Amino acid sequence: MAAPARPAATPRPHKPWAPKHVRVTRAAQEHAHADEIVRRCEALGCDDIELLKVDRITGVKGETERETYARAKATLAVVVSPDSARKLDPIPPSADWRVDLARGCPAHCQYCYLAGSLSGPPITRVYADLDRILANLDAYVGQGHVTSTSQARAHEGTTFEASCYTDPLGIEPATGSLAAAIAYVGTHSFPGPVQLRATTKFADVDPLLDLPHHGRTRLRFSLSPWPRYEGGTDPVGARVAALGTLASAGWPVGVTLAPIIPDGGWEVAYASLLEDVAAAVPADADLTIECITHRFTPGSRETLETWYPASKLEMDPEQRKEKRGKFGSVKHVYPNDVMDHLRSTITDQIEEQLPQARVLYWT
Ligand code: SF4
Repeated sequence: MAAPARPAATPRPHKPWAPKHVRVTRAAQEHAHADEIVRRCEALGCDDIELLKVDRITGVKGETERETYARAKATLAVVVSPDSARKLDPIPPSADWRVDLARGCPAHCQYCYLAGSLSGPPITRVYADLDRILANLDAYVGQGHVTSTSQARAHEGTTFEASCYTDPLGIEPATGSLAAAIAYVGTHSFPGPVQLRATTKFADVDPLLDLPHHGRTRLRFSLSPWPRYEGGTDPVGARVAALGTLASAGWPVGVTLAPIIPDGGWEVAYASLLEDVAAAVPADADLTIECITHRFTPGSRETLETWYPASKLEMDPEQRKEKRGKFGSVKHVYPNDVMDHLRSTITDQIEEQLPQARVLYWT
C-alpha cells in the first residue's frame, strides 16, 4: 500500500531532539554503534561531545535541582548495557520480554513512569553494544507468557518490548538504535516467529519507512487528549498522522491510550481523539489498542512533584485506590467507579470508531 500524502494542515513533528552534551564512556567506544551515535549527534549540531577515559558519567549535577534536571535532560550518555541486561525480564501485559536499547527520555511528561523506575538525574543512557543486545534475543524465542504461549496471541510470535525505559523514536535522531533493531529483527533468522514492539509519543517516522521490517515490528503511538501534561513530545495530531502513514505502508501498528486521565470533558476528548485515529488509519490496518489509566507510586509522585512543581495533574492519594504489587509495592490507581466509567465509555467509543482494532488489555 502506498503512503497517503499528508494534508497540508496535518501537524508535523517538532524539530528532532538534539542533545546539548554527549558523553561516551571508555567501554562504549569499543563498539561501532557508538561511532554512529557520535556521527548523528554531530550532524544534529551538538558541539559538546566528549570521549571519556573512564566509564563513569559525572558533571551532570547543577547548583539547584532545576539546573540538574535541565542539564540531565539535555545529556546523552553513550554507555554499554549492564551484564544483567542479558537476562530479560517478562513484561506483562505488554509483551513476553523487555529489551532495553536505552534508559531515559529527554521529554518532560508530568506523569512520566520513568520518574518512579529510574533513579538519579534524568539523563538518557543509550547502549552502544546494540549487537550484543540483539544477538541475545534468540535464546528467548518461543518462551514467555503474554504472546508466545497464549492460544489467542501466539500468531504474534515472541514479543520483545523496547520502550519500557525510554521512548525509542524520541531519541532515534541521535541514536539510530530503533532503526537498527527494526532492520535486525526484520531480517535475522530467528528460531521462531518474533515481534519487536515499541511505543512512542513522537512522530518522525519517515526515516523508518523503507526499513526491511517484514511485519515483525509493531510501532504503537501513545496518545492522550491532554497535551498540557506532555512537554517536549510531538503534537498528538502529528502522532496520529504518523500512525496513518505507517499503517498505510503496511506496518503493524497500535494505539496506546496512555495515560487515560478523566479531566473535565474527557468523554468528548477521547471520542474526538479516536475519531481522528479512525480517519487516519485504513480500515484494513493491523491495528491494536492498549488502554493504560493514570497511576503513580509514592516514589514517582515525590520525584514528579520536584520536577514539575506547577503541574495541575491530579496525584492525590486520597482520591485514589491503593493497588499492592507482588512484593508489597504500592500504586495509586483510580477508584473502581471511576475506572468502570472510563473503561465502559472508552471501550464503546473504540468499538464505534475502530471496529477493526484488537484491544489487547486495559489496566
Ligand atoms: S515520552 Fe514517555 S518516556 Fe518520555 S518523558 Fe514522556 S512519558 Fe516519559
